Amino acid sequence: MPHTPGATEADRHPVPDRPELPEITETEWNDWRWHMRKRVTNVDKARQWINLTADEEQAIDKSAGKYRWSVTPYYASLMDPDDPTCPIRQQAVPALGELAEFSGAEVDPVGDMFYRKTNRVVHKYPDRVIMLITEACPVYCRHCTRKFHTTDVDGSYFRDNEGESFEEDLRYIAEHPEIRDVLLTGGDPLSYRDGKLEEIISGLRAIPSVEIIRIGSRFPVLLPQRVTDELCEMLARYHPVWLNTHFNHPKEITPESAAAVDRLLRHGIPVGNQTVLLRGVNDDVTTMRTLMTELLRIRVRPYYLYHCDNVTGVSHFMTSIEKGWEIMEGLQGHITGFGVPQYVLTTKIGKIPIAQPYFSRVPEGLLLRNYRGQEMVVDASVHPITEADAT
Ligand SMILES: *Cc1c(COP(=O)(O)O)cnc(C)c1O
Ligand code: SF4
Repeated sequence: MPHTPGATEADRHPVPDRPELPEITETEWNDWRWHMRKRVTNVDKARQWINLTADEEQAIDKSAGKYRWSVTPYYASLMDPDDPTCPIRQQAVPALGELAEFSGAEVDPVGDMFYRKTNRVVHKYPDRVIMLITEACPVYCRHCTRKFHTTDVDGSYFRDNEGESFEEDLRYIAEHPEIRDVLLTGGDPLSYRDGKLEEIISGLRAIPSVEIIRIGSRFPVLLPQRVTDELCEMLARYHPVWLNTHFNHPKEITPESAAAVDRLLRHGIPVGNQTVLLRGVNDDVTTMRTLMTELLRIRVRPYYLYHCDNVTGVSHFMTSIEKGWEIMEGLQGHITGFGVPQYVLTTKIGKIPIAQPYFSRVPEGLLLRNYRGQEMVVDASVHPITEADAT
């Protein structure tokens, strides 16, 4: 399927030519609620979009009741019907690897439950919190490291408390004026309708110590039609609002997703991207370099490259850390610095940058290397390293 960054929705008829599919009108295709209603949640519906393999069918069957599964028609339309290794398909269709046992796998490796202060507020860094507002997502990504929120393994984050009042959460934030930055996440916060979201966001805006509001949402990738002008206008009433999304592969950059990003940007909402390094999906330099440069073309700023966590049901997507280093080396210096995300490991003590350094200390000063492997020493008499060198 062609993807032309920056093109408009009208430039492409997005529905693949499959006789199994019922007719879909342009109006239906552009309506995010239609996609939510028509999500793929069983084998029969999946067969309308792709030719399922026996392994996929078995995985769908065995993961039922354990890991949630749903795919929007929009995201399903990006899948290759015949290739089970298609990067979209691997992110959206259950695989037998989800059910395998891996040593060290945990449901909550980053310790959200440990830092949870109220029903929704997780306070780990002094100046900022995440607020988990729902466990619903339009597509349940197979690699989701928030498995604790979107699965039924060992209970879930909210159990039955998702619908509770926000009063306690907002009060906690107001009573901790050191919190200047609130990140709405989940699940996907844009799963809520605009009115409900506005209640939450206006509640946050009424707290004077909250400087910035951030939204973590994969809707621009999984169902870009959700990012309507009305939604953007509402968000723009509560600036400064930032949004980070989650593109993992260049195939996800479509006219629809580019248009959603453009709507956010035109309403003054900067858009960043967090990519997860996934075995078999994006673990090669060429794919990652294309992803980052294509993101820049649609004016999305790469933010983090996450090393895949060893989360229950996700471990089969893990790569080695050396693989991450190889990818970072293939980005740094080869493309502009603002196209290079920070490579991080998420842990119970926070997100830790783990890219390899481009310098080391030597007796004369600093030994530097560049992206091509050329080296030079910067003498400590030119660039003092310690305060003693400087005097
Ligand atoms: C990721 C995260 C944040 C935000 O981190 P940034 O590095 O500021 O993007 C805040 N709180 C928690 C608990 C997080 O996991
Ligand atoms: S949209 Fe985000 S939170 Fe939801 S399943 Fe995908 S990765 Fe997880």
